[in-house]
Amino acid sequence: DPTAARRPTEAVTVDSPNLTYTDEALVAKYTFHSAEVKQDGQRYSVKPVEKNLELKTLRAVPKTGLMLVGWGGNNGTTLSATILANQHNISWSTRDGTQTPNYLGSLVRASTLRLGSDAAGKDVFVPFSDVLPMVHPNDLVVGGWDISGMPLDRAMRRAKVMDYDLQRQVAPLMAELKPLPSVYYPSFINANQGERADNVIPGEDKAAHLEQIRKDIRVFKAANGLDKVIVLWTANTERYAEIIPGVNDTKENLLQAVKDSHAEVAPSTIFAIASILEGSPFINGAPQNTFVPGCIDLAEHHKAFIAGDDFKSGQTKVKSVLAEFLVNAGIKPLSIASYNHLGNNDGHNLSAPAQFRSKEISKSSVVDDMVEANHLLYKPILETPKGEKAVANGEKARTTEHPDHVIVIKYLPAVGDDKRALDEYNSEIMMGGRNTLNIFNECQDSLLATPLIIDLVLLAELLTRVTYRSTPEAEFENMYSVLGLLSYMLKAPLTKPGVDVINSLNRQRGALEAFLRACVSLQPASDLINFTQMQ
Ligand code: NAD
Repeated sequence: DPTAARRPTEAVTVDSPNLTYTDEALVAKYTFHSAEVKQDGQRYSVKPVEKNLELKTLRAVPKTGLMLVGWGGNNGTTLSATILANQHNISWSTRDGTQTPNYLGSLVRASTLRLGSDAAGKDVFVPFSDVLPMVHPNDLVVGGWDISGMPLDRAMRRAKVMDYDLQRQVAPLMAELKPLPSVYYPSFINANQGERADNVIPGEDKAAHLEQIRKDIRVFKAANGLDKVIVLWTANTERYAEIIPGVNDTKENLLQAVKDSHAEVAPSTIFAIASILEGSPFINGAPQNTFVPGCIDLAEHHKAFIAGDDFKSGQTKVKSVLAEFLVNAGIKPLSIASYNHLGNNDGHNLSAPAQFRSKEISKSSVVDDMVEANHLLYKPILETPKGEKAVANGEKARTTEHPDHVIVIKYLPAVGDDKRALDEYNSEIMMGGRNTLNIFNECQDSLLATPLIIDLVLLAELLTRVTYRSTPEAEFENMYSVLGLLSYMLKAPLTKPGVDVINSLNRQRGALEAFLRACVSLQPASDLINFTQMQ
């Protein structure tokens, strides 16, 4: 399959005085063009701004390990089975015929970007993975933790995601893979998960748990001869941790709270802290507030990399396209009603109010930036969060009107991993008319989410190899700790504190493309010539 095929790691070379190739790195001189706007009532004055940067990308692709928290779950087992099938080129029989392994759904492995045009004016598209040297998913060494100790062949069977004939063939390889014992604090996930929890690190001492996870990362790295390890949370959705001044608001307080085994330190935060302290990027694929303010503070202090929250796989991805399309078309969504039912273990866990609430928050914010961008449709208002607790938990003030937006999730065991998502978009059109769009989305949940894990990991790894400086005298420095460029894959993207979130899928993809191009000294692709034929 072409998405699995190997190509040279640097299939694209750029012939420009602004790009220098050394044995070690690609060094690009790049000018960012932006516009500074001053608003005075209904008048705007704009000044074009240029910023010169140098971007340095290390060329050597490191031997990379991926440690999943929740390895024995649907996503974790699907990822391992997929990588093994691709590595060993295992085909399997289905009722449709023979299926070969691939990485469809991965932006990096299965999509292209427009590089430019050839001499005849025809567009030339290249795989995303060809622009800069990137890790191939077949080369990832996968390991991790789970509170359920089942070896992965049995866990894969329990997940009921992969076709039987594929399970049969990868089972002997999967049987070798056993999750490490994990950190389990029952109050953070649904009580119905208790029966799975037979593989937990003993004791109540959170500092000892942190040390054990740090040690696990080091041992995994050394045992597999890895240059780099990335840690990713694909374990159950936790409830929100309460943000308490003096407990999790600063890095010092958070580390002290771990020493004190404070009740509000979540397992996912233990994993995030361990990763930060071990210099491993940490990505949160679930919606809870793992990155409490003290955790972001710690990552910034260590110049470590973090990203989150919550994979943007199906319904929300469509929403982040559709809401933008409507609002950008000058059509005003009045209400969005989203129903889900699903029957996998994720759905089982989300059937308690506190875990559902984490998901509801993450699913709710996704249209905010589109709405705020169009003040012709949505009038300015000021709605401040209600109560001290809301403020402490980071709820933001609303500055514009907003469509009514409702999220419902129900656990329906019979549909298994084949999640259903029903969305109604009810919008106001010209002269008081109405337009109602109904979307019925049926998908194999874990087969949409797993390629996002691959993208998050490959791109996070790449971002650890890119450094930049703004003057020739300065040292090259790391990218900022919170990897906002991974937003495309995430429902509720974490940003630098105080920086607005961008949920628009188009803008998220545009930023990724622009970044890859900048690293090889190319400006963002423009369609002006195609559309105007100005020569
Ligand atoms: P799952 O329930 O099948 O897997 C989660 C695994 O985590 C289970 O094996 C469980 O035993 C384990 N676990 C729970 N707490 C743990 C802990 N403290 N340490 C280690 N392991 C622990 O769920 P899934 O379908 O694989 O989804 C994983 C996560 O990704 C969920 O939080 C889900 O909300 C999130 N997510 C999934 C999708 C998707 O699948 N489409 C989309 C967005 C977000």
